[in-house]
Amino acid sequence: MSIQPGGALTNTEVAKADLSTVLHTWSAQGTLDPLALADGNGSTLWDFDGREYLDFSSQLVNANLGYRHPKVVAAIQTQAARLAMVAPSHANEVRAEAARLIRERAPEGFEKVFFTNGGADANENAIRMARLFTGRDKIISHYRSYHGNTGAAIAATGDWRRIKNEYSHGHVHVFGPYLYRSPFWATTPEEESQRALEHIERVIEMEEPSTIAAVIIETVPGSAGVLTPPPGYLSGLRELLDRHGILLILDEVMAGFGRTGQWFALDAFDVRPDLITFAKGVNSGYVPLGGIIIPSAIAHHFDDRVFPGGLTYSGHPLAAASAVAAITAMTEERVVENAASVGDRTIGPGLRELASSTDIVGEVRGSGVMWAIELVCDQQTRVPLPAAQIGRIKAQLLAEGLLPLIIENRIHVTPPAVITHAEAQRGIAIIGDVLAEASR
Ligand code: PLP
Repeated sequence: MSIQPGGALTNTEVAKADLSTVLHTWSAQGTLDPLALADGNGSTLWDFDGREYLDFSSQLVNANLGYRHPKVVAAIQTQAARLAMVAPSHANEVRAEAARLIRERAPEGFEKVFFTNGGADANENAIRMARLFTGRDKIISHYRSYHGNTGAAIAATGDWRRIKNEYSHGHVHVFGPYLYRSPFWATTPEEESQRALEHIERVIEMEEPSTIAAVIIETVPGSAGVLTPPPGYLSGLRELLDRHGILLILDEVMAGFGRTGQWFALDAFDVRPDLITFAKGVNSGYVPLGGIIIPSAIAHHFDDRVFPGGLTYSGHPLAAASAVAAITAMTEERVVENAASVGDRTIGPGLRELASSTDIVGEVRGSGVMWAIELVCDQQTRVPLPAAQIGRIKAQLLAEGLLPLIIENRIHVTPPAVITHAEAQRGIAIIGDVLAEASR
């Protein structure tokens, strides 16, 4: 069947054409029934049958500016009409400006940006950089994490997606803090923090510190459940790694660019990373883009040594132009401040109210526009709500006009950072009604 993009189509026609030609990510193809999306504006999306959805997903947590942002769209159009493509070896003014704006939002001392196509290759190259800079090989990361789908990034990942992809060598995993399901029998955030630090310290000792290049963690583990680190964990980790000359790579691919209510999630903690990786929110995903923010010492290490890594589309001008426009718009329109305010004043209180009134809500946690609702069979045992029930909840949310992001037994509340208080309130009310019905 041949379809005309943009023509008058139905959801069924688009889904059928898609499934007969596209092999989808991370799935058994026969189980799929994709929602066909036709259009969007701000935090609203429409399917091909004309149904409207309030977006509580930001797709894969990347549409921080929502849809159809006029300044980002115009910047891509203008750049496409001038120089749509240029090799990374050439100098390009839009790429330099994107790097400057990104660097400006990082902590002091960060000097250069290495551009990639997305988050996985940002982490891949950060790991490569750490290995070359230290002359060491091993990489430590958390079990509850996702770092992307390339050789070392997927091996650093902790979740199920790693298991069939472990071809990169030298990876070691540890348990990070997760008080609600504490791997350390902790009962307070302070205990969880201290015991997680003791655990990673023992692992570092047993692995021989002088063989370890870096620890890579998400500042706020996202797909794993929005696991904001407890007080003292990141600063304690920094201190531990400094003692052994081990680098700290903070993966800000999901948490960065306004998601947590700060430009970078790390801004809320007393921690200084050695490398920062980003993607998603840097340009709200309008054109694929990611990268590494590099401090002077590591950047200049490669002044007289070759950095053995590159990509045809590194610093692609359409991606760079969209990043310049997106960062400028986020600044002028105070989008990061909006994310913080919606999180503090509407989403946080709304979800906490839900937790106190609904049996199947075990815990809510997060900040800004990055939250998770953990659904359980009962609040005492904390047994995760079974997949079949989660599936029914998802279908009901969609039927009520809310596009959710569901991962395992959790509803992730990750709307665009431009969402209004009223929209956030409306979405939480829908979730409240659906969960109340589900717990009856
Ligand atoms: N790191 C984190 C924290 C992520 O959430 C993701 C994607 O979800 C990635 C890395 C991989 O990014 P990409 O899919 O752009 O390669």
